[in-house]
Amino acid sequence: MFEYKKIIDISLPLNEKTIVYPGDPSLSMEKIKKPSGSQLTKLSLGTHFGSHVDAPSHVFDFGKNINEMPLENFVGSCRVLDVRECQEAVTKEVLEKFNIASDERILLKTKNSDRGYDEFYNDYVYLASDAAKYLADKNIKLIGVDYLSVKQKGSVDNTPHTAFLEKNIPILESINLANVEEGEYFLMAVPLALQDVDGSPVRAILLR
Ligand SMILES: [Zn+2]
Repeated sequence: MFEYKKIIDISLPLNEKTIVYPGDPSLSMEKIKKPSGSQLTKLSLGTHFGSHVDAPSHVFDFGKNINEMPLENFVGSCRVLDVRECQEAVTKEVLEKFNIASDERILLKTKNSDRGYDEFYNDYVYLASDAAKYLADKNIKLIGVDYLSVKQKGSVDNTPHTAFLEKNIPILESINLANVEEGEYFLMAVPLALQDVDGSPVRAILLR
């Protein structure tokens, strides 16, 4: 049986103040009291709200939707790489030092995690295009980044998305790795069973 000592929650808390990528819908919640007295809440949010995964149809018209991606990508052993030395972008040169193998799930801890998620900033550390290609060519199972997008804000070069998604490698975005040190963990970041959409919020946790 699989045993663990600790659960680390790497998800962003979700409420109406949770930061969103500029232009994306934020969360709205409406509490509804039923005649019986019980309460429920009506939610409105984007598929890329909070900690979430991108499916290929996020960038490709005929790409796979989130329900068509194997759950295996989102559950299993993973490695957190501490790349806080990267100032502007995570580069291929830095990643080459880690001996990344195929089939790994890789989460990148950058300075973004230390800076926090109280307000959106444009100059977040992103994944450089050649670094994205390098990882995608290794056929990893999932890439995770600690900010709202894998790509540079405002850049027209969408390689950081397309390099992964054209190979059906899901991108886990908006995870908070502030309380996670470099090393090996068991990741669970399972999308909701939403049908025919381009991504899904997840509750992302690491077990150790
Ligand atoms: Zn996304």
